[in-house]
Amino acid sequence: MDFKYVQTTCPYCGTGCSFNLVVRDGKVVGTQPYDRSPVNEGKVCPKGTYAHEFVNSPDRLTKPLIKKDGKFVEATWDEAYDLIAQKFKSYKPDEFAALASARVSNEENYLMMKFARGVMKSRHIDHCARLCHSSTVAGLAASFGSGAMTNSILDIAESKCVFVIGSNTFEQHPLIGRKIVQAKKNGAKVIYADPRYTPTARQADLYMPFVSGSDVAILNGLMQEIIKNGWEDREFIEKRTKDFEKLKEVVMKETYSLENVSKISGIPVESLKTAAEWLGTNKPGAILYSMGITQHTVGVDNVRSVANIQMLLGNLGKPGAGVNALRGQNNVQGACDMGALPNVFTGYQKVIDEAAHKKFADAWGFPDGICEPKLGYEVTTMMNVLTDNPGELKCMYIMGENPMISDPDINHVREALESLDFLVVQDIFMTETGELADVILPAACYAERDGTQTSTERRVQRWRKAQNPPGEAKQDWQIICELAARMGYAEQFPFQSAEEIFEEIRRVTPSYAGMTYERLDRPEALHWPCPTVEHPGTPILHREKFSSPDGLGAFAPIEWKPPAEVPDEEYPFVFTTGRILWHWHTGTMTRRSATLDTEVPTGWIEINTEDAKALGIKNGEIVRAVTRRGSVEVPAKVTDDIMKGVMFMPFHFHECAANILTNNALDPVAKIPEFKACAVRVEKITEA
Ligand code: SF4
Repeated sequence: MDFKYVQTTCPYCGTGCSFNLVVRDGKVVGTQPYDRSPVNEGKVCPKGTYAHEFVNSPDRLTKPLIKKDGKFVEATWDEAYDLIAQKFKSYKPDEFAALASARVSNEENYLMMKFARGVMKSRHIDHCARLCHSSTVAGLAASFGSGAMTNSILDIAESKCVFVIGSNTFEQHPLIGRKIVQAKKNGAKVIYADPRYTPTARQADLYMPFVSGSDVAILNGLMQEIIKNGWEDREFIEKRTKDFEKLKEVVMKETYSLENVSKISGIPVESLKTAAEWLGTNKPGAILYSMGITQHTVGVDNVRSVANIQMLLGNLGKPGAGVNALRGQNNVQGACDMGALPNVFTGYQKVIDEAAHKKFADAWGFPDGICEPKLGYEVTTMMNVLTDNPGELKCMYIMGENPMISDPDINHVREALESLDFLVVQDIFMTETGELADVILPAACYAERDGTQTSTERRVQRWRKAQNPPGEAKQDWQIICELAARMGYAEQFPFQSAEEIFEEIRRVTPSYAGMTYERLDRPEALHWPCPTVEHPGTPILHREKFSSPDGLGAFAPIEWKPPAEVPDEEYPFVFTTGRILWHWHTGTMTRRSATLDTEVPTGWIEINTEDAKALGIKNGEIVRAVTRRGSVEVPAKVTDDIMKGVMFMPFHFHECAANILTNNALDPVAKIPEFKACAVRVEKITEA
């Protein structure tokens, strides 16, 4: 019997835990702890523990599929490539759009970006970071000059005050939650603000339930109280920041007195006072946030407000401090770093910058040039263009994404994707999006590929191949290279391994230039920026100065605005969505994991006990949830763990898809949808 352990990195959340895959006779059969990673020190959450279970699922795609007369039939790779190449060549550059993926490696995102811009000459490339943290990238770049988590996961344990807002850390990033526990053991105060009493709330010293969408008001109110009490860090403000007076003009308004903020948010004045005092008198303090902050029409405003309060407190550039934006998926940071966005090449080099555009055109050497130096469409814009401007976009190539479950207003997404002339989907399982495709290409999963991924804390870590892909499935980078060659660009895609692609990434990306596979093989790997091979990496950003051109952090005066859709007579409740411990995003992997799916087999809608009583709804009863976008039938979970007036659904479950209900209203800057607040009503289902 052949038996081995292969160390790799978890394919689920952005924490970046390492574990060993147990391989018996060439097949992955289990996971075992890998103790040497400083991120998780051998511990994993349930998703990591059972991350082997879907790998050899009988549902894996094993052959290319081509749709004929409305049905998929198996095809050879040659047939699939010929069809795709012939169709792709028939479109003008900007009739084509690509979606890269936060689930695949840096190397594969880089190649998809190069394929879209170099082979197809299209400016339209994006991926699901648009839906989770595009407001972080835009907001933190405006405040600090760099749009990433400022500190490392490890130094959260050194914080004296941890403020978690809009993140259910103990369910979504459990091994980061462990660092909060360590901070607490070291004497830190833990403050938690969320509309739901989640497992994270149970760990908090102060829990503040609030009405979804009132974040800016809360943060402005806390800043007013901090300034009134003289708890701000005057030296930091003076030496390291600008525009403090502009911030003060807004946050000191009567609108943001604690009494008014209490009315807007529902948080008692006493709790707000305590939070301000703890933040002001326990330093360094760390703020942790996730999609509760970002997924709003004011997502960028929310992020900038978080940056404001941390600059006010001097909580940047040191251990135990920071603006810790917890990225959702395993490689969402890396997919952004690799330029799988409509406005940047790798390392956030702007496509509209002439020098950057020339640099990439020269480095890639396409004889017929690359895309124009213009901004492309965000994924949310792509969907709107498809329905509102028929014929402008005709063809999409989607790698490892499932917008038919993950994107807001699914009925609209269906209409958009069905309007395409030609759709190629590349994935490991048939998905709801794949069902709409013309061609399906079977891909390798994380356990079958080499490559790197970049976790939420900018730590670039290795994936290592543990088994061969099933049937004829291939690694995404191989598929892209072969397709590019079929289209006449073999010279630009000569790669024989993921490492060769990484070497090209290093050459064009200053923040990755000092990393090599050899250096990344160490258990601690490296944090970017890492500009030279001698550089030790950068766990903490902005130590001496910010990354902005003048080196200063920029305060932004932000006024509170309500969500795009608020409750009214017809839709009287606030509706919000999120994830749970046992499942992952659109469920393609975790719902094929027997253990995880047995634990939580379907979705639900959480309704406050008093609201349920008023509506005559019992726990477990199937109800109909209705918004202006559509309706779903879903079991009710009646609980005191959610605020009165607010309802919640996890979005993993296709049979009761929360995103049928959500609102595609967008933040004007980041174009992120408002998943976290819209208006809903719930109806009893009566027998006909
Ligand atoms: Fe995987 Fe995240 Fe769980 Fe770690 S915390 S094991 S990275 S899902």
